[in-house]
Amino acid sequence: MIDRALDSPLPIDVAIIGGGPAGLAAAVELKSRGVKRVLVLEREEQAGGIPRHCNHPPFGMREFRRVLTGPKYAARLVARAQKAGVEIQTLTTVTDVYPGGELAVASPAGTHLISARRVIYATGVREAPRSARLISGARVQGVVNTGALQSMVYLKGRRPFSRPVIVGSELVAFSALMTCRHAGIRPVAMIEAGPSATARWPSSLLPRLRQVQLHTATRLVAIKGARSVEAAVVSGPDGQEREIACDGVILTGEFTPEAALARCGHLDVDPATCGPVVDQWGRCSDPVYFATGNLLRPVETAGRSWAEGRKTGEWVARDLADGLPQPAGSLRITTRDPLLKYAMPQRICKSQPAGGMGEIQMRVTARVSGNLVARSENATVWRQALNSRPERRIEVAIADIVSRVSEGTVEFSIEEAAT
Ligand SMILES: Cc1cc2nc3c(=O)[nH]c(=O)nc-3n(C[C@H](O)[C@H](O)[C@H](O)COP(=O)(O)OP(=O)(O)OC[C@H]3O[C@@H](n4cnc5c(N)ncnc54)[C@H](O)[C@@H]3O)c2cc1C
Repeated sequence: MIDRALDSPLPIDVAIIGGGPAGLAAAVELKSRGVKRVLVLEREEQAGGIPRHCNHPPFGMREFRRVLTGPKYAARLVARAQKAGVEIQTLTTVTDVYPGGELAVASPAGTHLISARRVIYATGVREAPRSARLISGARVQGVVNTGALQSMVYLKGRRPFSRPVIVGSELVAFSALMTCRHAGIRPVAMIEAGPSATARWPSSLLPRLRQVQLHTATRLVAIKGARSVEAAVVSGPDGQEREIACDGVILTGEFTPEAALARCGHLDVDPATCGPVVDQWGRCSDPVYFATGNLLRPVETAGRSWAEGRKTGEWVARDLADGLPQPAGSLRITTRDPLLKYAMPQRICKSQPAGGMGEIQMRVTARVSGNLVARSENATVWRQALNSRPERRIEVAIADIVSRVSEGTVEFSIEEAAT
């Protein structure tokens, strides 16, 4: 049963769901701006987020001006937050969010409700599991995402296989490659459905350096095995299927925001980002709630997520002190083009467009060259040449759009596209 229990009589000014780089950065910023009680709720036994599992560099250049491994970086973020007076409650999962800043939480002490004047939602992203990728074949042991592999190797000292196939070539696939190396695992191949590696050079050179062959235009079709993985069935550029003998499959990337709380609760969710709908201050459809970090959209680095968290801390402090402009009458930002994956923020509060995020962030779904166009009420209001690949950040200055459109919806699409 849920009961109302608070271990401190002081009201919580800001509760932060998730103690990764974004949540911790927001917390420190709030404290530095004089916000009294800032509470981070983290479901793991330690705060620090995904970098805790990534026992490799480079983390921390932006935040600490030095190159750190993920765990050292995470430990420094936690130490900085504790020094700033942030309360961090670990082993505490937020299980529901309610209007007005009320949260249901579960911890070893039981379940209870807490309420805060503002809530920052910073739960990050996760990779698509096997079920979401519609991979056929045997349901056997040895199929994992990078996150699971990293926690097995770095946190539990386990070595789940010795000759896996790595699926995907986003940056995180190279993180998987480094994790394999650390554990003495030798991947037999890396496969990528697109025509070239998704990650930028020089990361894309890593497979060759590690003597792992990268097969582009190749898809994982099925997994074979009796109890554990024995082969990956792949379809190559010629459409022919063949088997790669292996004892594991690492499914990397294809990130989705960890937005279950928003989906099950009262906050609006954007079907394109799969994260909460926000305005340029990261303010959700219930203005007591803000979202930050990779929850906003898949996916950015730890450094970017940290910087976003810091900004969100600044905006929430401002909201508590003076109030941000009212969200009523916001411009709606949408994409209706299959070549555009998403646009975020999804609303722009026009009463004070300056401040908040300076740009609308977008990504494309395929390599594309053409014109990125903004239309409002059937008229083109803005256009710019675009040449991009999937998983590259595209930014459009909010000021450019707001200066041309006064109300309604702005819809982005790509015209004269060559893919
Ligand atoms: C497998 C994987 C590997 C990655 N590798 C790299 C890399 O090498 N370099 C890089 O720069 N980026 C990497 N990333 C991107 C990563 O998302 C960012 O580095 C960064 O961690 C994002 O920070 P964040 O605070 O937004 O989210 P996260 O770091 O994901 O932190 C979110 C936190 O919220 C907590 N949480 C979630 N739900 C709840 C809940 N209901 N209640 C309480 N707590 C909750 C989680 O336990 C987690 O600690 C990787 C991502 C993944 C998934």
